[in-house]
Amino acid sequence: MVPTTETIPFQAETKKLLDLVIHSLYTHKEIFLRELISNASDALDKVRIEALTDEELSVDLDRLKIRLEVDKDKRTMCIIDNGVGMSREEVIENIGTIAKSGTQGFSDALDKMQKEGGALPELIGQFGVGFYSAFMVADEVELSTRRIGTTTDDAVVWRSSGDGEYELEEGTRKEHGTTVTLTLKAIDGEEEGQKDFTQEWVLREVVKRYSDFIEYPIELDRPPEKEEDELETQVLNSRKPLWLRPKSEIEETEYTEFYKHLSHDWNEPLDTIHFRAEGAVEYAALLYIPAQRQMDLFDPKRQRSQVQLYVKRVFITADCEELLPVWLRFIRGVVDSADLPLNVSRETLQHNHQVAQIQKRLSRKVLDSLSAMQKNRADDYAKFWSSFGMVVKEGIYYSDEHREAVAGLGLFSSTKGEELRTLNDYAADMPMGQKEIYVLLAADRESAQRSPHLEAFHAKGFEVLLLTDPVDEFVLQRMTTFQDKTIRRIDQGEIDLSDDADSGENEAKEKELEPMIEAVRKELSERVEEVRFSKRLTDSPACLVAGENALPQHLVRLMREQGQDVPDPKHVLELNPKHPLIESMGRQVGDDFGRFSNCCELLLGLTQLAEGSTPSDPGKFSRLVSEMMIE
Ligand code: ADP
Ligand code: MG
Repeated sequence: MVPTTETIPFQAETKKLLDLVIHSLYTHKEIFLRELISNASDALDKVRIEALTDEELSVDLDRLKIRLEVDKDKRTMCIIDNGVGMSREEVIENIGTIAKSGTQGFSDALDKMQKEGGALPELIGQFGVGFYSAFMVADEVELSTRRIGTTTDDAVVWRSSGDGEYELEEGTRKEHGTTVTLTLKAIDGEEEGQKDFTQEWVLREVVKRYSDFIEYPIELDRPPEKEEDELETQVLNSRKPLWLRPKSEIEETEYTEFYKHLSHDWNEPLDTIHFRAEGAVEYAALLYIPAQRQMDLFDPKRQRSQVQLYVKRVFITADCEELLPVWLRFIRGVVDSADLPLNVSRETLQHNHQVAQIQKRLSRKVLDSLSAMQKNRADDYAKFWSSFGMVVKEGIYYSDEHREAVAGLGLFSSTKGEELRTLNDYAADMPMGQKEIYVLLAADRESAQRSPHLEAFHAKGFEVLLLTDPVDEFVLQRMTTFQDKTIRRIDQGEIDLSDDADSGENEAKEKELEPMIEAVRKELSERVEEVRFSKRLTDSPACLVAGENALPQHLVRLMREQGQDVPDPKHVLELNPKHPLIESMGRQVGDDFGRFSNCCELLLGLTQLAEGSTPSDPGKFSRLVSEMMIE
């Protein structure tokens, strides 16, 4: 019987879309294979579903597979599956018509992508033109298919060269399923990065990249080395979507191997988070907390989430920035969504409600896991914090939602001892009568510990957290409370730690010294913003504090180190009325004005030295000191 061929024109819309696909998309052509394999995998899924519901259907589910075949001489490649196949009507409906989402939408998006840059793989899937992407690499596409459940070996053959029409023919096929045969375009030497899809290694690579975790085997015959060798079939994909397997069946080493494969990190991860979300938004997530800092952690070009997005086992993108906030960019892993459309565009991802929900849940999970590690595995956590603490702290700044939780993850130096402390430790150990959390910013732990600001806190037995990270300055702008307690910088503004008991005695002293403080004010009016009595000092005669709104000394130092020109900020000079030096200065007011003036200069210089900075006029300072040393 001569097969009857029917020629059917594409709908105008379909034709337009095809033209766009063929003529406008030049990069990432290899994704056609991902699309065809994904269609085959869908068709195989459908067999499994039909087998479940249709008792008459007898299929050996273990035989479900995808096969690739190439013929170098004819320049053809086939993608063969034994999936559900299609009836004639289904072929016309599914392959002959597109425009599900509209050609206009596609061409608009394409325009935008070409203007602003973007990735083709996302576009293709989003507009349901997966099948048509075959025309990017093929002059002719033929699809031969037989619906499952049919008793004869009749098949439907669809064929097109991607111009205005397609042909439908009758054919035969031994088994249910679909064969897509591409007559590949000739390799154009002019075009850069062209891949020859009749090459075994090319197929292996592309499958590995995009379809490695497809559940069904993707087979390809290994080319024989000698003519007489028998063909050997290889499976190109590893077929292990680890994240979709039940946790209880996964060995620790499998998790680790997958992590290494994913991250190119040879170290074991510190923690693995694996869960499936069911309900409104369905997905599986497998995330890892690395132990070692990645090289590109602070690379501005890589400041986005490094979690891979899959949709139904099909790889979509390696760094889906919508899956985790930027301050969790060190996390590695995979999210496999069951209900996102086979890849959404970047733009869609940004506004997708489900993706937002996934992000929320993932962030929560990571924070919980870190918090558990902090409680139960202190050594590992310390390692984690030294690698990634700097990045996590960005979360305190940026995340309104997680601020308190992220702050709770912090490890800080403290006046309490060598051990790093958390805000929770701190809050739990606060003595009665202490209302606020005290922190001191400094360049390092050593200089922080020398700070005169700490004296009254030592005397009271109040712990002070010593913040020595450059980012702490910014963190504190947002981290103003923890567990409803104010976080107070002890080098800024007025601090009153005095007991009511000795306030009477102090008041009398201060009154007595009033003329002295007035004189100091006059002497140093150019150099300090204000002179006042201190309620935070016990052993030192004086200290400098930042005004409520001034740049703290430590920050000024930091900015100067980075080459910025920062004028000396004026500080408040606080005097300790109980200190013998201050008492002595009190007695000298009015006596010998030259000497008092020098004393003021020296006092300011000494205080600056105690803070770890240099006296404003070092020459004058050392001259005055040597003069005083001469009897
Ligand atoms: P999508 O996969 O997003 O639906 P495609 O253009 O990739 O869009 O495919 C269009 C339709 O063609 C599919 O939905 C499916 O119904 C049908 N189809 C494609 N390939 C196959 C196949 N190998 N087996 C069965 N049906 C297929
Ligand atoms: Mg598809």
